[in-house]
Amino acid sequence: MIKYSLVCRECDLTFESWFANSKEYEKLKRKKLLNCHNCNSYNVNKSLMAPSLISKKNNDKIKNDYNKYKQIKKTIMEYQKFIKNNFRYVGKNFAYEARTIHYNDKKKEKGIYGTASKKDLRELREEGIDTQIIPWVKDNSN
Ligand SMILES: [Zn+2]
Repeated sequence: MIKYSLVCRECDLTFESWFANSKEYEKLKRKKLLNCHNCNSYNVNKSLMAPSLISKKNNDKIKNDYNKYKQIKKTIMEYQKFIKNNFRYVGKNFAYEARTIHYNDKKKEKGIYGTASKKDLRELREEGIDTQIIPWVKDNSN
């Protein structure tokens, strides 16, 4: 006996069925004796995924992780939007611009954001210039 996980191409129902062997599966399928429990469609195929891999628990976990990821991404995107609206983008000139602001004491100047190397950040910190590292996600609308 062999147990196959089957999936209906019409309604996406996944179910398990026992067969004497793989030949019996082929025979039943050819003779149109293999149908979906839900919609009676004969468009039923062996599922490539083992049922244990897509158990409800795992499925929920995947969904959960995905939602968590989406939530984090949303938070970062909101943060990015705030920064974009309130800070001046200086790109790779970040270290230079940060020093300019720091040494010219331009307190009223907008904050800046951009990219800097780890070395730049370390040097800025040694000079007493505060920097914040924030995660940045690619914004597809850009
Ligand atoms: Zn079906």
